[in-house]
Amino acid sequence: MIQPFDTLQERFADLQLLRYEVPGFSLLSLRQKLLIYYLAEAALWGRDILWDQNCSQGIRVRKTLEAIYTHYDGPKEETDWKAFVVYLKRVWFANGIHHHYSCQKFEPGFSREFFLTEVSNLNAALLPLRKDETKEHFATELAKTIFNPRVMPKRVNQADGEDLLITSSCNYYAKGITQPEAEAFYANIKSKASPNRPPMFGMNSRLERDNDGKLYENVWQSGGLYGQAIDHICEMLCKARDYAENTQQKAVIDKLISFYQNGNLKTFDEYAILWVGETESEIDFTNGFTEVYGDPLGLKASWEGYVNVIDHEATRRAKTLSNNAQWFENHSPVDSRFKKKECRGVTAKVINAAMLGGDLYPSSAIGINLPNSNWIRAEYGSKSVTIANLTHAYNIVAKGSGMRQEFVIDDATIQLLDQYGDICDDLHTDLHECLGHGSGQLLPGVDGDALRAYGSTIEEARADLFGLYYIADSKLVELGLMPNDEAYKSQYYSYMMNGLLTQMVRIEEGCQIEEAHMRNRALISRWTLTNYPDAVQIIVKDNKHYVSISDYKLLRKAFGTLLAEVQRIKSEGDYEAAQTLVEQYGIKLDAKLHKEIRKRYQRLNLAPYKGFINPKYELIHDTAGNIIDVSISYNEAYDKQMLRYGKQYSTL
Ligand code: ZN
Repeated sequence: MIQPFDTLQERFADLQLLRYEVPGFSLLSLRQKLLIYYLAEAALWGRDILWDQNCSQGIRVRKTLEAIYTHYDGPKEETDWKAFVVYLKRVWFANGIHHHYSCQKFEPGFSREFFLTEVSNLNAALLPLRKDETKEHFATELAKTIFNPRVMPKRVNQADGEDLLITSSCNYYAKGITQPEAEAFYANIKSKASPNRPPMFGMNSRLERDNDGKLYENVWQSGGLYGQAIDHICEMLCKARDYAENTQQKAVIDKLISFYQNGNLKTFDEYAILWVGETESEIDFTNGFTEVYGDPLGLKASWEGYVNVIDHEATRRAKTLSNNAQWFENHSPVDSRFKKKECRGVTAKVINAAMLGGDLYPSSAIGINLPNSNWIRAEYGSKSVTIANLTHAYNIVAKGSGMRQEFVIDDATIQLLDQYGDICDDLHTDLHECLGHGSGQLLPGVDGDALRAYGSTIEEARADLFGLYYIADSKLVELGLMPNDEAYKSQYYSYMMNGLLTQMVRIEEGCQIEEAHMRNRALISRWTLTNYPDAVQIIVKDNKHYVSISDYKLLRKAFGTLLAEVQRIKSEGDYEAAQTLVEQYGIKLDAKLHKEIRKRYQRLNLAPYKGFINPKYELIHDTAGNIIDVSISYNEAYDKQMLRYGKQYSTL
């Protein structure tokens, strides 16, 4: 049964919702379908954990907005109502009241009066009141959270020189704990632990203060903080276990359940080692506390879950890279002291997402490389995936958007991008994930967290530069991954155009670059622009700025030089150099240029951020009650899906 698939869905504010298709789902065996089904349930049950991690008020705000949304009976053409709906949809998308990318608190377009009236119209039983809390107190507190721009202005503040904990409103540290206090707490833990194979201290807990003023970790585990959500996750993992594809995968699931039960970071490392070693199954998943971008100190991991199915065809491409990992490591322009002598276990797989949850929903990464523990990566390698069906959905909407016509310098370059853009994007993602993150090594004794707040940006820069350097290498043509020696130019042009100009469209006027991947792209492109003026320039044509690349070979040399330096910084843990690089090239925007780019972009009327609506899986029973199939459907609307998740998977 083939139906035309409609990728494009809702559009509002700076967002666009797409659907992704799970190709070949109907061809899977019933066991595989059930494995996906229960892993998908486990990926959805952790949703409220992330909401609470993002902001202590997030779930209260969401539940209240949802109650208003479902019970409102006023005129739907009213401006306040319309603005309210957009606000709620943005909050859903961001898993909280702060923009998912810029981290700034949303400005509500509706009035405080409208909000207070709607809350007072609601039956108190529909509202998430605390015990003994009056509706009036509740309404005032929430109104302050939503409307007062000085209350919780920013989820993650990265501004150098400020107390990053006091000024960030994420919920990883109890109110009042300062950055020096938290840093001292973890420095103390680290100093007592063996430097060999350290666990990722702090990743699965909230730092709190007891009655005597002493700091302690409130651990996210069964029976602890978020215990209710975690128990539901474990229940679904238990069911999934019955359909595991092999005994190793069973062991992976068992170990993950143990970790959720005991909260012990050693168990987590054991789980990560089992997980990275399980490469035989066609269906895989991650579920747990994973990425640290949401913590200004880069310690606490936000909860995410996803489920995927292998894409056999595209996997062959990524495998080719992994099989040659050592060749790439040996030939990189990096100082040999910082190279891995033995590149092992870079498992490359192209997959299709089957479910996105937690911090991967609705906005998702298109490539994932785990685990994050430095020593596990060094000793056991990492699993690296490129998510083909999400990339495919992006490509469909990008075509015909008018971006290239507006921002690319001339027709010849547009043609180059049209011809090679897709293949280069895929390959660059593969190089970044399969080889870039897995390459290089720390010098003995260097702390993996030495670069602190700059660590994420430097790590992304390292992986991107590895990809940029090698995408122009004739080795890729030789391996049959690139059609010829010219195609890479398309990637160079689009990368520089994005880093120097077009990625600015995602940032509000007056703001700076905050997010690690964006900082990395700005860092690479602006460092190159400054230091290699003979390779790349910004020129003005008809009062518009364009990127001009005059020497592609020299540009490759520039990427190689910067790769060597960034690897040195990482390997030596050179905090000062990381700070200088990131502060000098990765953060500040030229206000005039920013304004121009946003104006040109706005005329195209496109959404800078995209996210995904999940498919819906349902168990099919026969008359005797046996499960005979799992159905997949793609027609759930954005608001229906969000309301259903809010109801079905509510734990906090
Ligand atoms: Zn990366």
